[in-house]
Amino acid sequence: MTPAETVMKRCDVLAACTEEPGSITRPFASEAMRCAHRFVEQWMREAGMTVTRDNIGNLRGRYEGAGPGLLLLGSHLDSVRDAGRYDGPLGVLVAIAAVQRLHDAEKRLPFAIEVLAFADEEGLRFGSTYLGSRAVAGKLEDAELRRTDPDGVTMADAIRRFGGDPEKLGDDRWSGARPIGYVEVHIEQGPVLEAIGLPVGVVSAIAGQSRYEMTFSGEAGHAGTVPMAQRRDALVAAATFVSAVPAAVHGDVVATVGKLSVKPGAANVIPGRVEVSLDVRSPDDRTRESASHALLGLARRQSADIAVQITPVSERAAVACSPRLTALLSEAIGEGAVSVASGAGHDGVYMSEITDIAMLFVRCKGGISHNPAESVTEADVAVALDVLSRFLDLL
Ligand SMILES: [Zn+2]
Repeated sequence: MTPAETVMKRCDVLAACTEEPGSITRPFASEAMRCAHRFVEQWMREAGMTVTRDNIGNLRGRYEGAGPGLLLLGSHLDSVRDAGRYDGPLGVLVAIAAVQRLHDAEKRLPFAIEVLAFADEEGLRFGSTYLGSRAVAGKLEDAELRRTDPDGVTMADAIRRFGGDPEKLGDDRWSGARPIGYVEVHIEQGPVLEAIGLPVGVVSAIAGQSRYEMTFSGEAGHAGTVPMAQRRDALVAAATFVSAVPAAVHGDVVATVGKLSVKPGAANVIPGRVEVSLDVRSPDDRTRESASHALLGLARRQSADIAVQITPVSERAAVACSPRLTALLSEAIGEGAVSVASGAGHDGVYMSEITDIAMLFVRCKGGISHNPAESVTEADVAVALDVLSRFLDLL
């Protein structure tokens, strides 16, 4: 079996570690995660790594080097509900396969490699993202531990039941010398590589993101008795705004209204209030800020007799990938290497707090992710693995 075939088979094996038979749902600190850990721990050991599990529940495999430096590789093992099999696990398994090659060749690099299999990136169980990488970056606050899952189990209890000590999450924090970097292989989750016909691409930056909640307020009324000219229909104003969004953003900005709640929400009542979500992203923070500003202005101008209230929900700056590591990844790909921005967030966002980051995207079919239809080819995985191996040599 080729190494890429092994990676594909292992993605299938992990897909069977799920809370819901017939689909893939692998939340933080669950039995499904314990199942995944049993396999991943075994594969790490076979690749010559020593394996530990930290308190938050990250599995860490370490392959010693001939010198003192350290390179971090990895991705996450948790999933969304009814997920695909590659978002997360692919990065962990390609990293293990790259170490396996070194081990098979009895080769030690001048630096050690630690493969981090993160416990939680998607935040399915507790509605909070990046638990694994935040613990490593030392950015996990104690208040998080009081979050509860849908069954009322606190995060502290979930960690305890999984075998960690919630009082000692500080120990998970990276405390050694600054690592050389953190490099993650991940499916693209978008259609760009497929459109240009390339198996892999180097990530330039992880986009920053602004989220808002907007409330359009008009006046509810009887659908049969209020004449059209005298209505203050909040949905008409909100819908006009939503349909104007695509033409209002330019360049590498993406903006999405993904949630709409119409009140009172009855067929025979004129909508009096509409709540609208807005998500704006760009790899460039200034561009994102000015696009957000323009969109909020557009919402406010919708209609003179509709009040628009805007509440900022969250804001995250873009994270640039390291020019040095990115250049080495491009060199490892060779001629025609392309760079793509990541519109989705990744563990690298928090890993960038402790070291330089770089990411390699792997083409996925139709750009589909967070969906059972998620698909990558063995040939593309083989390319990604070769690129990562060459990158290690160049480094
Ligand atoms: Zn992911």
